[in-house]
Amino acid sequence: MKFIKAAINISDGLLTVFKHLFRKPVTLEYPEKRRELNNNFRGKLTVDGCIGCGVCKRVCPSGAISYEKNLNGKVLSYTFDLNKCIFCGNCKYYCPCGAISMTKEYELASANKKDLKLKYNIGVPEEENIKENK
Ligand code: SF4
Ligand code: SF4
Repeated sequence: MKFIKAAINISDGLLTVFKHLFRKPVTLEYPEKRRELNNNFRGKLTVDGCIGCGVCKRVCPSGAISYEKNLNGKVLSYTFDLNKCIFCGNCKYYCPCGAISMTKEYELASANKKDLKLKYNIGVPEEENIKENK
């Protein structure tokens, strides 16, 4: 009886293997191969051209946004705290200046919490800020 049960289980397994043998794989050999991301993908946040209106801070559900202004109210630096961010996209959606972008960069994991604070110096060329936050 035991032998029959084992034979049935083995043939069940083999049947499953054969069923999948000619199907296209659903996985990729990451990181060598990567899937093309949708244009609406919500990855690493960047900011450029912020006027400090505060809308993004109000709509951020996790309190991940902070910025510093000078005495004239000009924004000097802007920080996204990825320790808190849930990538909901509210900040980008509601910003009246279109200052916030969500890139397709998603390999953001770090063992150091400090690395997850993306600080952008406003008025500094975008590439320099991106380099700094790599
Ligand atoms: S909503 Fe836009 S312009 Fe206003 S503070 Fe946030 S990033 Fe700056
Ligand atoms: S994506 Fe959402 S959680 Fe992240 S900073 Fe923007 S509003 Fe806050």
